[in-house]
Amino acid sequence: MTVQVLGVAVPVPLPRVFDYRPPPGLAVPADAVGRRVRVPFGPREHVGVVVAVTALPAATAAGLRPAHAWLDESPLLGGELLDTLRWASAYYAHPLGEVIQAALPVVLRRAQPPPVARGRHYLVTAAGERAAEAPAYRRRKRLLRLLALLATGPRTAAEIAEHVTRAGRLVDEALAEGLIEIVSAHLPTAPALIGPPLDPQQAEAVAAIAAAAGGYAAFLLDGVTGSGKTEVYLTAIRACIERGRQALVLVPEIGLTPQALRRYRERLGVPIAMLHSGLADGARAQAWLAAARGDAPVVLGTRSAVLTPLARPGLIVVDEEHDASYKQQDGWRYHARDLAVVRARALGVPVVLGSATPSLESLANVAAGRYRSLQLTRRAGRAEPPRMQVVDLRRQRLHDGLSEAAIAALAQTLERGEQALVFRNRRGYAPTLLCHDCGWYGECPRCDARLTVHRASRLLRCHHCSYETALPKQCPACGSDGLMPLGVGTERLEEHLAARFPDARILRFDRDSTRTRSEFEERYAAIEADGPAILVGTQMLAKGHDLPRLTLVVLVDVDAGLFSTDFRGPERLAQMVVQVAGRAGRADRPGTVMLQTHHPDHPLLRTLLADGYAAFAAAELEARRLAQLPPAVHLVVIRAEARDAAVLERYFAAVRELIGETAEVGVRGPLPAAMARRDGYLRRQLVLEAGSRAPLQRLLARHLEALHALPAARRVRWAIDVDPLEVD
Ligand code: ADP
Ligand code: ZN
Ligand code: ZN
Repeated sequence: MTVQVLGVAVPVPLPRVFDYRPPPGLAVPADAVGRRVRVPFGPREHVGVVVAVTALPAATAAGLRPAHAWLDESPLLGGELLDTLRWASAYYAHPLGEVIQAALPVVLRRAQPPPVARGRHYLVTAAGERAAEAPAYRRRKRLLRLLALLATGPRTAAEIAEHVTRAGRLVDEALAEGLIEIVSAHLPTAPALIGPPLDPQQAEAVAAIAAAAGGYAAFLLDGVTGSGKTEVYLTAIRACIERGRQALVLVPEIGLTPQALRRYRERLGVPIAMLHSGLADGARAQAWLAAARGDAPVVLGTRSAVLTPLARPGLIVVDEEHDASYKQQDGWRYHARDLAVVRARALGVPVVLGSATPSLESLANVAAGRYRSLQLTRRAGRAEPPRMQVVDLRRQRLHDGLSEAAIAALAQTLERGEQALVFRNRRGYAPTLLCHDCGWYGECPRCDARLTVHRASRLLRCHHCSYETALPKQCPACGSDGLMPLGVGTERLEEHLAARFPDARILRFDRDSTRTRSEFEERYAAIEADGPAILVGTQMLAKGHDLPRLTLVVLVDVDAGLFSTDFRGPERLAQMVVQVAGRAGRADRPGTVMLQTHHPDHPLLRTLLADGYAAFAAAELEARRLAQLPPAVHLVVIRAEARDAAVLERYFAAVRELIGETAEVGVRGPLPAAMARRDGYLRRQLVLEAGSRAPLQRLLARHLEALHALPAARRVRWAIDVDPLEVD
C-alpha cells in the first residue's frame, strides 16, 4: 500500500526538498503543488511550499513527520513561476526553499493565510439583497452592516474595514455564501497624456515588438540617452494592455523616481502595481497578489519584481539592463535581467532589454543571434548630443579637485541661469587622512580600507563596515598637527563651491545628505524648481533623471575607473561616463561634459570620446575574448570568509579536494578578494571557469550536496556566485 507524501521546499540553507505526511485528517488536494504548509523542522516550525506530491510505501511514509497545516486554499505559486524558480535553484546552485522564500513577499512568508485583496471592489449580489430582508439573517448584525454598505456602491476591503470589525473573514464568508461579489477591479481609463508622435526608428522598434507579441522573442533596445527608449516601452506596454495582457517592467532601484512613476501613470491610464524595497510589507503583498490574480495590468518594480507571478503575461521590459543593481549580491545571487529573459521564454512573451550603454553580455547575445538589436541613434525632439571635453589635469593647479577650466564653466552656467552637475562617486570630505610629518594615514582596524574624512560630523568613517572614530586633531602616531585630508569627496566639493559661489544654490546628493527615499524626492523636487544651481552628487544622480535645465556636467575624477583591478572596470567606467553625460542638455539647450583626468591619452577615453560607446564595447569585447574573460567564458565563484586564516585555508583545501581535477572546468585560486579583509573577516575566492555553461552546471550539480556537507564549511561563511559581476 502506498500513501501520498508532500515534497516541501523549506527555507533553510540545505539543497534538498523535505518529505512530510500531509496534515492529519485532510485529504491531499489535487492542486497541492504551490500551496504553503506549516511544517515542523527540528524543534521549530517553518512555512514551506509544496513542490511535489509523491506516493511512498505506507511503511516508509510512517517514519515521516506530518505537516502541521495548510495555509492556502489554492496554490500561491503557479506553474510557470514555480518551474522558473526550480530552474533558478539548479542554475544558481541555491537551495530551492530559500529561492522560493525570496520570491514571496514578507507577509506571505508568515504562517498566516494570504491577506484579503485590497484594490479589489466588492458589491452586494441579488442574493445578498434578498438576504438583507430575510428573517434568517436578522441576528447576523455584522453581515447586515456589510450588505447595507455594499448596497450603496462598490467598496474596497480597506473601506469595508472602516465600517465593520474583522472585515477580512466576513468578506470571505459573504463571498462564499454568494451574498457579495467582486466587481471588475480596475477599469482602464483613458490615458491622461498622449505621447509625442514616434520618429521612424522608434516606430520601427515598436512594430518589431508588436510583431513578436504572443511568443517569445528577446530584443536589445540600444538607444543613446534621450533617444526616446521610454516612449518605445510606453507604446509597447499600452498595446500589451489593450490586448488584455499584463506588462512587467523592471527599473534599477535608483531609476524608480516619482517623476518616472508619474510618467508611467499618466501615459498608461491604468493602475500600476509597484514593487520596490521602500514599500511597506502589506502594500508589497497586495501588489504581488494583484499581479498574481491578473488584476494589475502593469507591474513596475526593482530587482525582485522579476519574481512576480503574472496571470495574463504579455510583455517584459528591463530598463537600463546594464545596471549592476539587477544582480543580487548576497543570499541567492540571481541576476534579474537574466531571469527576465528566462521567464519571458517560459511565458512565451517578448522581452525588451533597453540601455544607452548595453552590457557586454547583451551585446554578445546580439552578435550570437540570440537577441535582436533595435537601434535608436538620435536624440528625440531637438536635443543635441552633448559636447565632450577632456580636461588634462597634469601640472594644473586644482581647487579642491576642480580645475580652473571647470570652475570657469560652472560660473558661466550659473550666469546663463542654467544648472550644472559636479559628479564624484565618493561621499564624505576626503577619502584619506594623511599625516604630512610621518606618513601615517587613517585605516579601518577591521577592513583593508582607508577611513573617509567626514568633516561636518567630525568623524573618520569606514565605508565598508560600521567603524567610526572621532576626527583626530593631532596625528595618532607622531602627535604632530600636520594632518591633511587627501583627495576629494562630495562634501569637500560642496564646501568649496558654496564658498566660491556664495549666491548660488548648491545641492548635494549622496547617502549622507539624502538618506531616505522621501528625502531624496523632496530635495529632487527642489532641483526642478526654476533657477540656476550646482548639483554635487554621487551615482545617486547618475541616471534616469530628466533635468531640462542641466547643461554642464563635470566628472571630477575618472582615473580610478581607468585602473580598476576588476575586469569589468573599463565597462563600468564607460557606462558611467556615457550615462552621466546623458544628463546634460536633454531639452533644447546644448550640453557640455568635462572629464577631468591625468590620463587624457588613455585608449579607453580616446575610443569612447572619438567613436562612442558601441566602438568602445566592440574593442572591449575583443579584449575580453583574448583574455578569456566573460562573456567569452563563463564563471562561477565560490567565496568564503572567516576570521581565522587557517580555517579559511582548510575550507578551500577541502573544496579543491572535493572538486578534484576536471578537464572541462578550469579552477583558479583560492585568491584573496580585492578587499582581502572586511569587517574583521578574511575573504578568499575560488574561480571556476569554462567555455560554456553546461560543464559548470554539471560540476555544481555533482558536488552541491557534498559542498554543503563539508565539515570545514561549518566554520566559514561561504556562497556560490554563478555569473559573478565581480571577480576581484
Ligand atoms: P530615454 O528613455 O531613451 O532616455 P525618453 O523616452 O525619456 O528617452 O525621451 C527623452 C525625451 O524626449 C523625453 O522628454 C521625451 O518626452 C522626448 N521624446 C521621446 N520621443 C520623442 C519623439 N518621438 N518626439 C518628441 N519628443 C520625444
Ligand atoms: Zn604623524
Ligand atoms: Zn571597516
